[in-house]
Amino acid sequence: MINIKQFAELQKKSKNSFASQRQLMKKVMAGQTVLCSTCQQPLFLITPQHSATASSDNSGIRCKKGCTDIQLEFV
Ligand SMILES: [Zn+2]
Repeated sequence: MINIKQFAELQKKSKNSFASQRQLMKKVMAGQTVLCSTCQQPLFLITPQHSATASSDNSGIRCKKGCTDIQLEFV
């Protein structure tokens, strides 16, 4: 669960959205629970293997509802 202090830090960093997305990605990849700011559902990492049913082979971070959908570019 994200606490107020972490949230404030996150907001500070969101000045630069790219940096904050990287931060988010790091947390999710490290196994930390990060909640979607819209629906408060946990975010999870999509890898090309996970999205095998979709036509896209993009990796990303998404919530269940899809209001958070960050595309990541892994090479
Ligand atoms: Zn959401």
